[in-house]
Amino acid sequence: MPDWEGLRARVDGVVRLPGEEGYQERSSAFNRRYAGVAPAGVLSVSGVADVARGVAWARAEGMPVVARGGGHGYSGQGTAAGGLVLDLQGLDTIRVDRERELVTVGGGVRSGELYAELQRHDLAVPLGNSDQVGIGGLTLGGGVAAVSRAFGLTCDSLVETELVLADGSLVRCNETEHPDLFWACKGGGGGNFGVNTSFTFQARPTVPSSTCLLLWPLADAPVVLTVMQRIMAAAPDEFAARIGVNRTGADGGSVSVIGQHLGPASELRELLAPVLAAAAPERTVVEDMGYWEAKDFLHHETSGDPFAVRTRTVTEPIGPAAIDTVLTALQKWPGSGNPDGAGVALFTWGGAINRVPVTETAFPHRDVLFLVSMDTSWSPDDPAELRQANLDWLTDLHTAMGEHARDASYLNFADPDLPPARALAAYHGPNLARLQEVKRRYDPDRVFTHPQAV
Ligand SMILES: Cc1cc2nc3c(=O)[nH]c(=O)nc-3n(C[C@H](O)[C@H](O)[C@H](O)COP(=O)(O)OP(=O)(O)OC[C@H]3O[C@@H](n4cnc5c(N)ncnc54)[C@H](O)[C@@H]3O)c2cc1C
Repeated sequence: MPDWEGLRARVDGVVRLPGEEGYQERSSAFNRRYAGVAPAGVLSVSGVADVARGVAWARAEGMPVVARGGGHGYSGQGTAAGGLVLDLQGLDTIRVDRERELVTVGGGVRSGELYAELQRHDLAVPLGNSDQVGIGGLTLGGGVAAVSRAFGLTCDSLVETELVLADGSLVRCNETEHPDLFWACKGGGGGNFGVNTSFTFQARPTVPSSTCLLLWPLADAPVVLTVMQRIMAAAPDEFAARIGVNRTGADGGSVSVIGQHLGPASELRELLAPVLAAAAPERTVVEDMGYWEAKDFLHHETSGDPFAVRTRTVTEPIGPAAIDTVLTALQKWPGSGNPDGAGVALFTWGGAINRVPVTETAFPHRDVLFLVSMDTSWSPDDPAELRQANLDWLTDLHTAMGEHARDASYLNFADPDLPPARALAAYHGPNLARLQEVKRRYDPDRVFTHPQAV
């Protein structure tokens, strides 16, 4: 029987066990695919010292220990069956050094909290499109935002981070102190090397923007995907777009383009002109927006009902055969009760992301034009066979796309259905060996681990 009273006596934060108020909220995964995962207990830390105490206690008990930032990991990595969850929400400080444009945040801050503080100072850090995502998971796995083609990844803005290591010590890492560990924290993944208790980012001035939202019926997909990819392959770094095809249980499907341009709407309309001429959208919104309005416009939150995502990458537009593979699969989608449905999205990467040499940070995807993201979702009320049919459908699509796209995968869109060795190669590519060396040095007993850990 674990010594919970011993832990309670040792920490300043709150320990919650199954059935106790707040246990579920502070320890569960956002993706309800993992609703059945039951940690032994959760420690809501009140400061850095609690992190070290929690890690030491779990080690003494022989219990797995997992840090939970925003809980938004796709594969439920922020919780652990039978383990101790370190709920980092209490590490919530945000400090802005206006003069040097440096922002230091606690390891449990969520993107929305940081966005709000950055907005007060009108400073930009690329943070992605969900307010609920934790800065920990986002940064450690890379972090892609609509502005990343101009400003780089979230981890590319990181200048310093502090971690509690497996032995309880607190280390500061940057270009000169523990540089290998710092390198690993730039895209090598959360839950591997320690618990990051703070992150310092180099911010920059914001830029006025414009945004677009274009919608077509699914029948227009071949022409829209072809022309839109061509536009993005030649687009300036200031423009990024998500090109998606999607079906839900309630409709026949649609094609969408949603994007942000760090420039006026007049320029954006010019960039989009070939696709607007190729097929008239059912809905066209192209508007000037302030940087913060654009961020709100792109904000994306889902219900958290169960979902699965698998990814690949391409360095060039996908051709007619790949588009046919996607559209044939969409026709075969088994359906579900989740209004998010299923689809394929091409996220435009490149630009500033690709100007960083592949071995300079742990994030390895530095030559990608599109992240190919394939997803499906279902409802907790759907029968088990339909859930399985959705997962099989996604696996078949992922396999079929192997003909057209690389066996590479974005760590922040974690894919639990990849076997561990294949996942490690797909997530980390040529940087895996160095990550494994850093792991051996900083966590030799593998205190921080999960099925796809380094
Ligand atoms: C609705 C939604 C929108 C999203 N939008 C984007 C987007 O625009 N761009 C993008 O790149 N990604 C996006 N993601 C993916 C997201 O970046 C990843 O899922 C990320 O891992 C979530 O981090 P978290 O802290 O919320 O999750 P958690 O599940 O809490 O953590 C994920 C992993 O990181 C570890 N971890 C978390 N915090 C720390 C820490 N401080 N120290 C050490 N380890 C830590 C955990 O142990 C776990 O292994 C989105 C996800 C969702 C669900």
